Amino acid sequence: MARKNRTITLSDWDRTYLWHPFTQMQEWEQEQPLIIERGKGPYLIDTEGKKYLDGTSSIWVNLHGHRQPALDRAIKTQLDKIAHSTFLGLSNPPAIQLARGLIRIAPKGLRRVFYSDNGSTAVEVALKMAVQYWQQRHPEVGPKNTFLHLKLAYHGDTIGAVSVGNIELFHSRFKPLQFPTVEADPPYCYRCPLGLTYPSCRMDCLDPIERILKERHRELAGFIIEPLVQAAAGMITAPPGYLTRVRELCTRYDVLLIADEVATGFGRTGKMFACQHEGITPDLMAIGKGLTGGYMPLAATLTTEEIYKGFLGRYEDFKTFFHGHSYTGNPLGCAVALANLDVFKKEKTLARLQPRIKTMRRLLQPLWQLPHVGDIRQLGFMAAIELVQDCARRNPYPLEARIGHRVTQEARRQGLLLRPLGHIMVLMPPLSTDASTLTRMVAILHRAIATVTASP
Ligand SMILES: *Cc1c(COP(=O)(O)O)cnc(C)c1O
Repeated sequence: MARKNRTITLSDWDRTYLWHPFTQMQEWEQEQPLIIERGKGPYLIDTEGKKYLDGTSSIWVNLHGHRQPALDRAIKTQLDKIAHSTFLGLSNPPAIQLARGLIRIAPKGLRRVFYSDNGSTAVEVALKMAVQYWQQRHPEVGPKNTFLHLKLAYHGDTIGAVSVGNIELFHSRFKPLQFPTVEADPPYCYRCPLGLTYPSCRMDCLDPIERILKERHRELAGFIIEPLVQAAAGMITAPPGYLTRVRELCTRYDVLLIADEVATGFGRTGKMFACQHEGITPDLMAIGKGLTGGYMPLAATLTTEEIYKGFLGRYEDFKTFFHGHSYTGNPLGCAVALANLDVFKKEKTLARLQPRIKTMRRLLQPLWQLPHVGDIRQLGFMAAIELVQDCARRNPYPLEARIGHRVTQEARRQGLLLRPLGHIMVLMPPLSTDASTLTRMVAILHRAIATVTASP
């Protein structure tokens, strides 16, 4: 009874004092919020002691499950020394060690780490570095002040990140605040902008990109891309070789390649970083989400020695990178991120993930039979199921139908927590999820889709 009363009190306070992200609060106020108090492995446990499977890795951040002993320990150990000291004019051991650790696992050629505290700011840092780099290193090329990006891109919610993003529902109302950019069609094979089919298309969607780079490279500081998977767009996976061609084009036209690995980094795609599937090195790389194994808000922007050198000079040259945050290089975040890299090594996370990726693919196979499943996309341990009204015509459900939301509610009743992207269901469990847990997750998702799409 005490427990029940406490839940009711918390729930009242939540609805009285809080404003949740990406949430229609009018609706939220009418519902009972699910209040998570604990976690264990792939489970989230609410204030009533009810267990749920974490089907989204707590929105794409968790890697080794909740309460991972080594990660828990790393934070406690660091806490006994210090929680935070500034990185402006000072340094700290975990931040130094982590930078070295990151450079050792990053795509070859990335040599410097700049910390921030979330994926959006890691992107902002990359954009600002790119612009300032061109000003200082190559003033002769004139102002390179804009960016090329893909349609349906998502790079975060701060204004710079929104400017290079293109998710109509999230971004359109902030148009007046955005800086002008150049957009190109993404390699969305299920809905090919050119009406072609891979591989006979020979990736013709790269032609307009080459045209843009050729005509406008003088004004383009960089091309920002989510390598291999446009995650928030609905796990749109690029065909093999696409990223390699993008790298070649950027090099040819002197446009920096900015890889936003915030979602794809840290094993999510089956390799440490998505860029490593094609052996390419971006000029700048943003990481976040999985960096701390899903424990603490920490992010970083990695770059090459060439870009770093563009910022060197005497003090009075004012080539300093004028950017920083109160919690830059936070020791608690860096300590747990360092432990995260250690877990990858000690537990052979990537090697053990490979059979699980295959299991996920096999388990998802039967979902193709469902009448409203239009497409299933998977790379590594990230998967999306695109629901359509009619498979032949591939027409999506209207937003108002809230099909993804309804499937999510049904899955929650059965003990699986998900977060859809409109009409696209996402399954993104922690990398440590074993075959039997994965089987249960997919079974619930399957039943939920079948049930909801069967009723009009
Ligand atoms: C989540 C995400 C971001 C933003 O990260 P936040 O930590 O939410 O600010 C940026 N880019 C990509 C590709 C993402 O998936």
